[in-house]
Amino acid sequence: MDHFDYKNGVLCAEDVPLPEIAAEVGTPAYVYSTATLERHYRLFDEALDGLPHLVCYAMKAASNQAILKTLAALGAGMDVVSGGEYARAVAAGVAPDKIVFAGVGKTEAEIRQALTGGLRQFNVESEPELQLISRIAAEMGVSAPVTIRVNPDVDAKTHAKIATGKSENKFGIPISKARAVYAEAAALPGIEVVGIDVHIGSQLTELAPFEAAYRKVAELTETLRGDGHDIQRLDLGGGLGIPYARSNSAPPLPTEYGALIKETVGHLGCEIEIEPGRLIAGNAGILLSRVIYVKEGEGRRFLILDAAMNDLIRPAMYDAWHDIVPVIEPAAGHERTEYDVVGPVCESGDTFAKGRAMPELQAGDLVAFRSAGAYGAVMSSEYNTRPLIPEILVKGDHHAVIRARPNFDEIISRDSIPEWL
Ligand SMILES: *Cc1c(COP(=O)(O)O)cnc(C)c1O
Repeated sequence: MDHFDYKNGVLCAEDVPLPEIAAEVGTPAYVYSTATLERHYRLFDEALDGLPHLVCYAMKAASNQAILKTLAALGAGMDVVSGGEYARAVAAGVAPDKIVFAGVGKTEAEIRQALTGGLRQFNVESEPELQLISRIAAEMGVSAPVTIRVNPDVDAKTHAKIATGKSENKFGIPISKARAVYAEAAALPGIEVVGIDVHIGSQLTELAPFEAAYRKVAELTETLRGDGHDIQRLDLGGGLGIPYARSNSAPPLPTEYGALIKETVGHLGCEIEIEPGRLIAGNAGILLSRVIYVKEGEGRRFLILDAAMNDLIRPAMYDAWHDIVPVIEPAAGHERTEYDVVGPVCESGDTFAKGRAMPELQAGDLVAFRSAGAYGAVMSSEYNTRPLIPEILVKGDHHAVIRARPNFDEIISRDSIPEWL
């Protein structure tokens, strides 16, 4: 569910008509709904009611500080995957003891940064990383709280580029090696083992892979406790999928996911952490764009938009579907026509949809890509020297630019010409 609906024939973000935003900041632009962000956070928080828990928003999904602040105000922790994300979370006012640091390639500088600023835990992904954290923490005279990410060898049944829980993926340590690695961790100075971490992938549309992974984690918890480890925390990752097409069957709800967590690991007396990203931000954002041309090709019609693959890479990268709807509501019983929806970038991959049935549109019309809030703005680039597009946050009838569009001078002045040239 989201808060982007037609009101009096015009698509609105909560109570703000999208044409107003387009007139003020231009297109393309990302527009987020506060009510949707808050609703989705609360769904997870309530789904874990009764268990000690912390919902750590996976901020790589959408990391604008205004979004982080919105969620932190409700009590959210953050899952960060880089020194930059750590700095952003702290700048947005997130308490360091609610920050979980994940990622397979944490550098020495990132580890020092987090140990200096403070954190809830590192989710460690390898033995060399464990050794490096131990050395740095011991040098600093502190103890680093860690969980170890186990790879449960479970097929998440999602797109190959976002599956992370099979043995062929680079993530975590094989669950079969867990006892040995926990024993090593316990013997290292500077390391305080606090729990177990798992994350099997993104955009999961069934509960069965979560269930398989969480049952393995429950079993491992008992085994490691038997070995003398103090397993207090289970970080169960993110990954719950969202409906990208309104016509699709819906993925499981957070309440069902929460019930599964209670059933599989609820008896262990552990504090539960989850790291949802997409489900919190995905349907809370749209990409607003304008039709530049309607071009008649051979046997096809192209809808050429001012948004491109550099603004929203998901269709090119993951073959992702986004519903694309006109901002002005089409009349009941309108004709539909098929378009190849494309952007202006010089790549054939700059295609958002092929043969998409849509109401008839004309140059100048506004369209909205639904469910573009997660892995949208954060994955954008300035390819073709197209400025990063602005982000706008709506709350009720208020809206504000939370990242402005840079002008060309700002972009090109970042280059510097060597004096010998
Ligand atoms: C990407 C990621 C998440 C968030 O995944 P979503 O599918 O957006 O919920 C959580 N944890 C880790 C470790 C991740 O890499």
